[in-house]
Amino acid sequence: MATKTDWSEAIKPLLRKYKNHKHPLEYKNIYQLVVMVVLSSRDTDVHINELSKEFFKKFPDMKALSKATVETLKPYIGKVRSFFQKSGWLIKMAGDIKTDANIPLSMEGLTNLPGIGRKSANVILREAGKPAEGIVVDIHVLRVAPRLGIASGTDAGKIEEQLMKKLPQKEWDAGMAMSFLGREICRPKPLCEICLMNKVCAYYKKIAGKKPAK
Ligand code: SF4
Repeated sequence: MATKTDWSEAIKPLLRKYKNHKHPLEYKNIYQLVVMVVLSSRDTDVHINELSKEFFKKFPDMKALSKATVETLKPYIGKVRSFFQKSGWLIKMAGDIKTDANIPLSMEGLTNLPGIGRKSANVILREAGKPAEGIVVDIHVLRVAPRLGIASGTDAGKIEEQLMKKLPQKEWDAGMAMSFLGREICRPKPLCEICLMNKVCAYYKKIAGKKPAK
């Protein structure tokens, strides 16, 4: 019979590896982080990093952004995926919040803002150094967590629930750690032989079991 994995223990090497690993979005303050997180949804961090310099010269804070229109945003972020929807969210958000000091740094406050769901809120809270209120489940975690065997399914909300049940709150940075692992090692074509999680990984155990004995 297969032994049950103690994920609280098993996840520790991964947490250690990516402790204090900075998010790939190159933001300089919380205002920039919030805007970039909204823009990066269904787009790439690299693309958002590229265009954000000019964007933040023109819109350096929430106050400046609150005066923006779709037309004034378009030269700066017109090439971002779902531009019209995202520009609408940013204009509404800035109009409601008005200043950087009013950016709410809690799960409830952030998810009440247009364009910010639990995944984005978890990222913002982590980067802001606030206590975790959930676990980041992005496109990489959706792939890595079921491979590891720590969660199952394809629904981000359900995977986050499973992770929150299996891990104590002090280990909720595991989401971002799995995300970094997914970007570097557990790619769609995974590099299992050099992965520090291969001793506990369900996917690896399965493929290793199929290899002919040496
Ligand atoms: S052992 Fe392979 S499948 Fe498992 S987490 Fe590592 S890279 Fe991904």
